[in-house]
Parts: sequence; structure tokens; C-alpha cells
Amino acid sequence: MYFLHMKNFRRFFVFLLLIACALFYIHYSRLAHGRMHVYFLDVGQGDSILIKTPSDKIILIDGGPGTEVLTELNSVLPFFTKKIDLLVLTHPHADHVEGLAPVTERYAIDKALITGVEYENEYYEEFLSNLSDDETTVYFANEMTDFSFDDGVFVDVLYPFESIDGRSFDDLNDSSIVMRISYNDWSVLLAGDIGKSVERELVSNGAILDSDVFKASHHGSKNSNSSYFLEAVSPNIVVVQVGENDFGHPTEEAIRNFENAGAEVFRTDQDGRVEISLSLSTSYLRSQFP
Ligand SMILES: [Zn+2]
Repeated sequence: MYFLHMKNFRRFFVFLLLIACALFYIHYSRLAHGRMHVYFLDVGQGDSILIKTPSDKIILIDGGPGTEVLTELNSVLPFFTKKIDLLVLTHPHADHVEGLAPVTERYAIDKALITGVEYENEYYEEFLSNLSDDETTVYFANEMTDFSFDDGVFVDVLYPFESIDGRSFDDLNDSSIVMRISYNDWSVLLAGDIGKSVERELVSNGAILDSDVFKASHHGSKNSNSSYFLEAVSPNIVVVQVGENDFGHPTEEAIRNFENAGAEVFRTDQDGRVEISLSLSTSYLRSQFP
């Protein structure tokens, strides 16, 4: 009788051990084989970046002009994905915010990160009013803001240093949220449309800028992307989000600075949507040519 009891106990113990191993394996394999995918969407002259974390959390930064972003999201996301975990608006110029208004109508937004800067633009108003209708938690960016995901992806806001909620800017580009997104040893730096004066402030403030991938600021404008800033970032890959435009974007000067920093340059107007995939050990890059 006693032995029978012990036998049952051992069986139960082995059963528990197997379950624990299975849970550990599922958790470990998700981390070990998981990849962070970064898509620089092909939305014309504007910014829109989609990040899929290893555990399929969705981060969308800006929505580009028009509604091209909806087509791009349909191509990249599985049809059943109807939720965006973190939505970021770097600054409310139309080439960043216009596509976000319809996105907030079609997707449930869990968290939104904005600056709250003052600016008159119908798409911005629509976007803000859609956010307030939703069950969205809204965060106002400052350098203490960060988001960490349970699969190891970390979003670190570097700028604005302090909240600029309710403030207006002479140059709205300089209100852009700057963030460094990291996974394992990889990092991606997104700096919206900031100009050289903000670049200088970031460097002199000692912000950690060093990154493998850099999105060209302000679509490759010569008023951004200074050589000393790129020295601090030292990217391997630079992606320029650009379409047909009258501003001369991207400028030769910016392209030269990217190349002098040792980076390989990709452009959405020539390469189409650019996908970069980062795993624990390797990375690969894929472009969808138009
Ligand atoms: Zn822009």
C-alpha cells in the first residue's frame, strides 16, 4: 500500500516536471528563435515604420501622408491582427499624421505616445479625437518615458527631454520624438524630422545614440543628418523614407554623410518597402522592389 502511494507520487512529480520543461521550452524557444522585424513602409514622401516584436507585439511609428499606410499594414500584418500595442506620432506634420487618423478607426490602440504639441492640422485633430474616444492609454513623451516588452524589446525615448504638451514650436520638426528601440544587442534609432540644433543637444546631453540601424531624419534633408551626429550614431544601415518631392530630399550632403559614417543606404522611393529582421545572433535585410 505504501509503495503504491509512493509510485503515484513519483508519477505526479514526473508529470509536473514535464509540464515545467514544456513551459520553459516554449518560453525559451520564443526568445531564442524570435526575431524583431522592422518595416520601413513604402508610403511616399513621409514616415511610417512598423515593428513586429518576437512575441508579435505591434508598434507603429507615424502614418505617412494619404492612406497608403492601410495598404502597407494589410500586406505586412496577418488579417486577424486588429490591435496596435504602441502607436507613436513623432510630430503632427501631415506627412507623419495623415495616415494615422484612419489607422485609429480600423485598429484598437492599446497605448499611444505623443508630444501633445500645439499645431493646427485637421488630421492631427481627427487623430487626437479618435484617441480620446478609444480605450487608449496616452503617454506624453519625455526622456524618462520608456516601454519594455516581455520578449526583450525596449523602447527608450531620448527626446523631448521634458514634456512639451501644450507648447508650440517655431519649427515643428524640432518637436519630433526621438527614440532608440533595442532588442538583444541590436538597436534602431528613429528621430522623426529633427534638425541640426536638436542633434547637437542630444550629443552634448550624452544621450546613448549608437545604433545599428538609423532612419534618415527629415527624409534626408541637409538641415538634419549632420556628420557629427552620424559619428555618434555610427549606423551600419540607413533607411531614407522618401517619395517624389520638391525639397530635393534626400540631399547629396546627407547621403554623403551616411556613406562617410560607413553605412549602407536604402531608400523607399527606389527600394520600396525595406524590411530588416533582427534575431539574437544574426540580421538580414530584405527590400520589396517596386
Ligand atoms: Zn516629415
